[in-house]
Amino acid sequence: MNERDLLIIGGGPAGAAAAIVAARAGVRVTLFEKGPHGRDKVCGDGLTPRAVAALEELKIDLSPAHRIDGLRMIAGSKSRELAWPTTDRFPNHGAVWPRHRFDTHLVDVAIESGAEVRFETEALPELDGDRVVGVRAGGEQFRAPLTILAAGAQGAAAKMLGAERDPDEPFGLAIRAYAPTPRHAERHLEACLSLRDEHGTAVPGYGWMFPAGDGTVNIGVGALSTMKGFKKLNLNKLLDQYAAIVRDSWQLGDYLDKPRAWRLPMSCVRRHGPGWVAVGDAAGFVNPMNGEGIDYGLESGMLAVEQFLADPAAAPARYDQLVGERFDRFLRTGRRFSFLIGHPWLLRPGLRIAVGTQTAADITLAVMGNLVDDRTPGAAGKVLKLADGTLRLADPLLRRTRAAA
Ligand SMILES: Cc1cc2nc3c(=O)[nH]c(=O)nc-3n(C[C@H](O)[C@H](O)[C@H](O)COP(=O)(O)OP(=O)(O)OC[C@H]3O[C@@H](n4cnc5c(N)ncnc54)[C@H](O)[C@@H]3O)c2cc1C
Repeated sequence: MNERDLLIIGGGPAGAAAAIVAARAGVRVTLFEKGPHGRDKVCGDGLTPRAVAALEELKIDLSPAHRIDGLRMIAGSKSRELAWPTTDRFPNHGAVWPRHRFDTHLVDVAIESGAEVRFETEALPELDGDRVVGVRAGGEQFRAPLTILAAGAQGAAAKMLGAERDPDEPFGLAIRAYAPTPRHAERHLEACLSLRDEHGTAVPGYGWMFPAGDGTVNIGVGALSTMKGFKKLNLNKLLDQYAAIVRDSWQLGDYLDKPRAWRLPMSCVRRHGPGWVAVGDAAGFVNPMNGEGIDYGLESGMLAVEQFLADPAAAPARYDQLVGERFDRFLRTGRRFSFLIGHPWLLRPGLRIAVGTQTAADITLAVMGNLVDDRTPGAAGKVLKLADGTLRLADPLLRRTRAAA
């Protein structure tokens, strides 16, 4: 039997952030990652200012990342170049950091900080009644007062804990590839909000060009499950259609690898219990308004360990409360918003308003990126509050009339 203070299942940003904070505090922590050292994760690689703030809190050196100053928002023939909002709470820059390198960097910082990391080792929770007492991994048993589930989009470990997606809530699917472009060093992300599938149905989601500064761009498309025809949506086709639209303006070369798709979980029916908590994608923390999950993984990973350090026994319930106070309201509004834009006849006029003027587009960027500073909420804060109230009232109707799959 191997005794530890803390066990972590999964070595993505959420698990690595937890391991870094724990190891720096002198905790005996072991992280299990089923992939090899340097494993890749299907992602757009985009870090918003919110994610940069979380990385700064973790004291991560951002110099290997490609700095990003804002977003080019495209809808139909309208294109608006936007700077990230200026707030006291978040920096005014983001980054693109390909996950292969980003995740390796984070996990290496965890190791340097004193965490034990076991690669190519799948771990599953060990239960005593409904209490998680540790994990079983690589034929060995490990015990600790707390296990952090940071295993990404819900799988076998989540199933054992009942930490599964709520079937009544939306989720996302997205696909990405890398391709060479002379515009790789640009300082703006590009997002096309007016995608249509092969049948001409408006897609609630977007196509992205995220320049990585290394000769390539991360190109991808994502869609929400609230879309009409979602079950039959062919993401490879949608990506090819989008690539055809941007090919000339980006002088885009061929994909460097086979496009890969993955899920974006946006809900979780249970994110804590005796002896365990879920963080990041495992807890359903993906922003439905923009598909961002890295920041939420970093923040929740750090928060879980802070609660563990304060009081291991009370940590699961306290974490659940605090993470809820930080994210639940916004993410609930985001899920309601995704039912709204699942209706093509609401999506189209909505887009017209969102990019209609520079001010409206600035507000859209701040709201969708959850970049509202609570102390000085400004126009974006007011819009978010209004959206929260309106969507709460409209929610039953939007769900009842959701586009048929
Ligand atoms: C196509 C696409 C584009 C995206 N673009 C962006 C973007 O641009 N910006 C952004 O912020 N977010 C983006 N996201 C979301 C983002 O990728 C995730 O939210 C983020 O990776 C969540 O981090 P995590 O640490 O919770 O999980 P993950 O990064 O998925 O890490 C989980 C880890 O756990 C390991 N694991 C799983 N089960 C076990 C087990 N039983 N034992 C041991 N190890 C296990 C896995 O191998 C994996 O390494 C995108 C998602 C997709 C699919």
